[in-house]
Amino acid sequence: MLESIFSKYFTLYTDLETREKYSIDYGYLSPVLMRLRKLPRFVIKISKEEDVKTLIELMSEYHFPIVLRGAGTNTLGETIPLRDNTVVVDITNFKGYERRGGYLITKPGSEFNEIGINDLPTIPTSYYMATIGGYVAGGSLGFGSLRNGAVWDIVEELEVYTPKGFYRLTGTDVYSVVQSAGTTGIITKIKMRTIKRDKKVKVLRKQFSTLSEALDFSLEFVDKAEFVSIRNKPMAELIEPNLSWGKWNVIVGNYEEGDEASLKEIITTFAGTYFTAVNKTKVNYNSLDIPLEKLKEIEGVKALISCELSRSRSKLFSHTYFLNYESLPEIDGSVFNLHSYKVNDRVESDRLKKMIEFKRKVDEEDLLNPGKLVFQ
Ligand SMILES: Cc1cc2nc3c(=O)[nH]c(=O)nc-3n(C[C@H](O)[C@H](O)[C@H](O)COP(=O)(O)OP(=O)(O)OC[C@H]3O[C@@H](n4cnc5c(N)ncnc54)[C@H](O)[C@@H]3O)c2cc1C
Repeated sequence: MLESIFSKYFTLYTDLETREKYSIDYGYLSPVLMRLRKLPRFVIKISKEEDVKTLIELMSEYHFPIVLRGAGTNTLGETIPLRDNTVVVDITNFKGYERRGGYLITKPGSEFNEIGINDLPTIPTSYYMATIGGYVAGGSLGFGSLRNGAVWDIVEELEVYTPKGFYRLTGTDVYSVVQSAGTTGIITKIKMRTIKRDKKVKVLRKQFSTLSEALDFSLEFVDKAEFVSIRNKPMAELIEPNLSWGKWNVIVGNYEEGDEASLKEIITTFAGTYFTAVNKTKVNYNSLDIPLEKLKEIEGVKALISCELSRSRSKLFSHTYFLNYESLPEIDGSVFNLHSYKVNDRVESDRLKKMIEFKRKVDEEDLLNPGKLVFQ
């Protein structure tokens, strides 16, 4: 039995309470995702590379599915087991990091809270609870993404173990693993560039009567701001209820003008705010990545709207949240589907192609987070 084999190498957590806890993550917000979860067979905790080697050997011999798990704060069901007999692998004890030559070199279980965030190019709103491995494998944008790009833009090198062996990936090859939700390899080491953030970020808030005016104003900041959010009145009121807002509002995090605030305050009212807002209101929600030249088309949409201007591989777009909508606007862009557990429903096509090619090469049995990446 798998249990007796595993217990030679790992402590096993088999009680119902633990298995329940590890069957769900922050995807609980989505009723669609909640229905899909299976209880894991058991949970193990890894703390070093040797553990990963042992795990891979056992997988090659006994062919069981695994789901890797950091702090479980992803909102897309990325750590929800979809198959029976899944072993959930907790990485939160697999820690250790150093800063060297303009880089952060870290093991996956290190938490942002331990590492410190000030010199990280992009920082997720959930930084106060997330692991760096979970962010690299499951995250996308964050505070700083407008200047510095998405997670896949800042990772220089990754080490991963797969059922077909060990890989050190560099350059654009990291796209095979970043944001692939642990479907293409177990990350054991991350090398990420760091930046200098010497001054305090200031927050500028401006009100406008049309989206077009708000967008024109925003464009002045896209090359110098850490973030620019354009929110319509109902969304702005929900997020910062004590301020007075116009029909459309621009919130800019920059170094020149505005009110001083702590980095923590700024980050926690930025992108992931949709999660807090939905948690509060329980309304429907989804998001679209819209090219900036098409953004004006959402002017009349009935919804609470937040446009987070972002950059991925030098290309600007709006990562746009719609809450309490009747229907999503039909605009050429890409859906970043917040109710789908499938990696395919949120990754740009060329990066997705790389993930699928790598998956076919290293995990044709689909043992790594099975069902999350459609690749056949
Ligand atoms: C309030 C809130 C705000 C948020 N804000 C943002 C934001 O601004 N930007 C953003 O991108 N996301 C955001 N998120 C979601 C986000 O993806 C996570 O918070 C974070 O990136 C995940 O870290 P984690 O440690 O919780 O990982 P988990 O949720 O545990 O895991 C995430 C994925 O990584 C995989 N994984 C974990 N470890 C490894 C490993 N060693 N090797 C391979 N795969 C692995 C898991 O299988 C899973 O697929 C937010 C979530 C919340 C609740």
